[in-house]
Amino acid sequence: MILEELQSELDHLQRDGLRRQRRTLASPCGPEARVDGRSLLSFCSNDYLGLAGEPALVDAACAGARAWGVGSGASHLVSGHLRPHAALEQQLATFTGFARALLFSTGYMANLGIVPALVGRCDAVFADRLNHASLIDAVQLSRADSRRYPHGDLAALERLLAASRARRKLILTDAVFSMDGDLAPLPGLLALAERFDAWLVVDDAHGFGVLGPQGRGSLAHFQLPAARRLIYMGTLGKAAGAAGAFVAGDATVIDWLEQRARTYIFTTAGSPLVACALAASLELIAEGDTRRQRLWQLSAQLREGLAATRWRLLPSPTAIQPVIIGDNHETLRVAAALYEHGLWVPAIRPPTVPRGSARLRVSLTAAHTPQHVARLVDALRGMA
Ligand SMILES: *Cc1c(COP(=O)(O)O)cnc(C)c1O
Repeated sequence: MILEELQSELDHLQRDGLRRQRRTLASPCGPEARVDGRSLLSFCSNDYLGLAGEPALVDAACAGARAWGVGSGASHLVSGHLRPHAALEQQLATFTGFARALLFSTGYMANLGIVPALVGRCDAVFADRLNHASLIDAVQLSRADSRRYPHGDLAALERLLAASRARRKLILTDAVFSMDGDLAPLPGLLALAERFDAWLVVDDAHGFGVLGPQGRGSLAHFQLPAARRLIYMGTLGKAAGAAGAFVAGDATVIDWLEQRARTYIFTTAGSPLVACALAASLELIAEGDTRRQRLWQLSAQLREGLAATRWRLLPSPTAIQPVIIGDNHETLRVAAALYEHGLWVPAIRPPTVPRGSARLRVSLTAAHTPQHVARLVDALRGMA
């Protein structure tokens, strides 16, 4: 019986410490969360610049709703492409320095759209082993030959590219790895793409808004130009504080995605009020040096506070600061103990991360204060 099978697998998940549990928040996204009548200090969200509840975005969303309504009513290619969408695409292209940008409903959908539109059966994709699940699924959907290289290993990638006879080659990478917080070697990847005539698709979900001058993202951080073989995907639900995603690149590539990315074509265009909020968000991102500096100060405070303790941090230069524990149950125990102290830090377990590398994924935002970080550091030191 199917139901008994599912129940038994759910029981296994529970036994292995792998069953996920949602918590319902009675407060908006922010460092202070109300859950089950308790007040918690949250280190969970990807709202890195603290823009999700920013009054300027709320005002822009309200004004957007009054001017454009709530829904777009159709897909972009039918009648759902409204002026706020068009303006936002233009703004994103200018901001990232690419010829054109195309909006998607989510980053997951953008990745599922890009890869199968660009490669198929006769082609090959070269993917970092720690890429985000959406990129892994995108490769499967494309039916291209999938080659995975060890995390950040340019020499291994070079060997794979040199041995490939594929018609088209596409290198696929997170720019900032979502569970480790480290950066992909983007200049080296671009050089390999040039040498082996490959595309380079960069997923900057955690870099856009945070890294580089004015928060222009990971390519800007490395001072990489908008090369024609680069395809840049940024998401708008993390640092940008709202929802959605975009792909930016050469005009021909974007024209092609507009015609062929199935997750662009066969879905209703995002809400115009969100596009209006995002236009305001982009301005705050560009002027957001103060927020970004606060983020780096908090990150340095956490790293210094946990140095020379038993807690093992990864060498992350970003807002994602994982504490590696290893065992699933031990990770859950530590997360539960922190929770008792009123500190909410997510326990990340396989399959999100490799087996034996369960961790606390501390994510910091510009909305945190030094006092918030001190509370987390003190609690962890107290447990060491
Ligand atoms: C969050 C994330 C996505 C998905 O973006 P959504 O807009 O949340 O669907 C894609 N790639 C990476 C690396 C991410 O961290």
